[in-house]
Amino acid sequence: VYILGIESSCDDTSAAVLCNGVLLSNVTASQDVHRDYGGVVPELASRAHQQNVLPVIDQAIKRAGISKEQLSAIAFTRGPGLMGSLLVGVSFAKGLASSLSIPLIDVNHLQGHVMAHFIKEEGEEKAVPPFPFLCLLVSGGNSQIVKVNAYNDMEVLGQTIDDAAGEAIDKCSKVMGLGYPGGPIIDRLARKGNPHAFSFAEPHIPGLDYSFSGLKTSFLYSLRDCVKDNPDFVEQNKEDLAASLEYTVVDILMKKLKLAVKQTRIKHVAVAGGVSANNGLRNAFHEYAGKYGWTIYIPKFGYTTDNAAMIGIVGYYKYLDGDFCSIDKPAFSKVTFQ
Ligand code: ATP
Ligand code: FE
Repeated sequence: VYILGIESSCDDTSAAVLCNGVLLSNVTASQDVHRDYGGVVPELASRAHQQNVLPVIDQAIKRAGISKEQLSAIAFTRGPGLMGSLLVGVSFAKGLASSLSIPLIDVNHLQGHVMAHFIKEEGEEKAVPPFPFLCLLVSGGNSQIVKVNAYNDMEVLGQTIDDAAGEAIDKCSKVMGLGYPGGPIIDRLARKGNPHAFSFAEPHIPGLDYSFSGLKTSFLYSLRDCVKDNPDFVEQNKEDLAASLEYTVVDILMKKLKLAVKQTRIKHVAVAGGVSANNGLRNAFHEYAGKYGWTIYIPKFGYTTDNAAMIGIVGYYKYLDGDFCSIDKPAFSKVTFQ
């Protein structure tokens, strides 16, 4: 069974080919055009997808060493994401599937992030999380604690009531005048800073929900006060600021996750989404595993941010279940686990 996965929900155009659930190729074109704007510009994203989609898919099929006629089905991200971006991948998937007369499989982008743990490379032997497991899904648009009962059955136990963790980190980085996206830059600076140099407000939200907008404001105000006294404050303290910001975000994330483990008594705990590339968060997972006896699952760096391999693996499982999608199913932009 050969599955082609296509991902185009935000600002990465990605295509992957899997053979019987094993990854043969994964090609991603990122978009630099957004850098100057400090955030993704939807119109520019759609245009770049339009330019990249054909060469990226072509490369993925070539690198897999097959011809497109050998494909068994095409899996594509149907949502959530930016509508203009989604439409490029969705329309391409539909056109290609109909020209090849093969089934289409729609994949939820967020389920894809969670299922990144099941991506298997050639010759790779790795432990996959057993169902049910908990997954902390932290990305640019979402921060959720998900109970994963099966690959196609996920329950959101808690989620952010305002900003996502990645979004908060990106905005604080922007306030500091660093580049975009801020996540990787903050990560790099934080490794050299003192996480206890500064402290920022932590939210008091009941249950398993998150909130990151207060932290953003607290960060902004602290910075503004310090810069008033010393214009070079940010430049002189950027490592400590990054480390303290990262420490606070990780602390907020882990406290609720610990509560979720306590409530569900599920000790198999995974992390997924772009922010799971963060080294501070990865270290915290190892620390909690040691302290509280969790079995943890951390994806490879390449499978944390948007990629088509995660779409392809969900596509493969749906293919085995004969769970196909009709050609008239539209893309959707809103967050849902349907
Ligand atoms: P969603 O999946 O919710 O639709 P998205 O697809 O835009 O959103 P991802 O691509 O999964 O999000 O993740 C992007 C986010 O991950 C950005 O906010 C980015 O700053 C963050 N990120 C990437 N690497 C790191 C890192 N090393 N440390 C912290 N954050 C990071
Ligand atoms: Fe994503």
